[in-house]
Amino acid sequence: MRSQRARNHVATRTAITFLAASVLCGTAVAQAPGSPDQAEEPTGPLPHVRVVATGGTIAGRAQSAEAGAGYESGALPIEELLADLPGLDRMAEVTAEQFINVPSTAVSPAHWLGLAQRLNEILRDGIDGRAVDGVVVTHGTDALEETAYFLDLTVLSDKPVVVVGAMRPPGTVSADGPINLIRAIQTAGAEESHGRGTLVVLNEEIHDARDATKTNTHSVETFRSRSWGPLGNVGRDGAHYYRRAEKRDGARSEFDVTANTPEDIPRVDILYSYNGADGVGAQGFADAGAVGLVVAGSGGGGTSRELGETLRELAQGGVWLVRTSRTGSGSVGGWGRGTYVGADDLLPQKARILLMVALMSTQDPEEIQRIFREY
Ligand code: ASP
Repeated sequence: MRSQRARNHVATRTAITFLAASVLCGTAVAQAPGSPDQAEEPTGPLPHVRVVATGGTIAGRAQSAEAGAGYESGALPIEELLADLPGLDRMAEVTAEQFINVPSTAVSPAHWLGLAQRLNEILRDGIDGRAVDGVVVTHGTDALEETAYFLDLTVLSDKPVVVVGAMRPPGTVSADGPINLIRAIQTAGAEESHGRGTLVVLNEEIHDARDATKTNTHSVETFRSRSWGPLGNVGRDGAHYYRRAEKRDGARSEFDVTANTPEDIPRVDILYSYNGADGVGAQGFADAGAVGLVVAGSGGGGTSRELGETLRELAQGGVWLVRTSRTGSGSVGGWGRGTYVGADDLLPQKARILLMVALMSTQDPEEIQRIFREY
């Protein structure tokens, strides 16, 4: 059932159906419905969206306005990013907090855990007695997909969590942070976004956190969901969805980390297989304390012979092995029952996160393989 807020929004949209014409310098200028000059006034209560900031280029401080100029990632406070965003006051009531302010490669598993716990708290208890309808997390794009997937698995709510970043820092030519932030807030405040776990919004596209990955080092059109495509898009008139992701996430996830501490997060590393690779890297990770290894194998998940031998020995010693593919898409099954867990079509960096989270709740091989099938 749609809420009063959603019905009011639809009523407002349908009320704006006229064309306004004006004469400017002797030229007739027609304003189409939804043009920037015809602001839609909200008639009902706006959604309360909480922005939780972590840094990244979206909060970068650039040396100059020139395109491609150097900048410091994770420098500006969230209040500065939210100030004067055009039209925001008609879309949501926005409150904000600074969780950390760092480049995304400085975000650690301990940060993931703290962030997941904070988001669960915000979505459950609200802020100062006021319910929160959705959360936006600002984040650097380089490792955005890792944090987003951790949250997808561990924020146990039907309310939307939207992770957003930018490719160009504030103040530079065609900076994409302001539009991305506006669209993320719209998405987090939309009724249609409920029950979809954590989402990634950039470039007016909405992606599922499980599938989204950064595919281009510079383009603003960098996030892709590989074989599956985006879930939908978001524009001035709101979020539109065209499909639903099937894998378990959000309120459908079983991973309650609210009582965990960073020490509970197991060490899991990623190995890349290539011809001639020996077992030195794998052995090194195991010696450093890795309890699990995710192998980015060639093709359907194969490894070089030498690496494969070392991995089998490590598995016999109790190290968890998860097989993924370095191809970037396609599924990988569990081979050699008891030795490898197949990661389906999860990218290595996502499979690592699922293994870490899974090992925090079970040590049963059958259960671990079930989890890789369901998530
Ligand atoms: N280096 C930046 C970061 O990930 C890149 C970005 O945000 O786009 O923090």
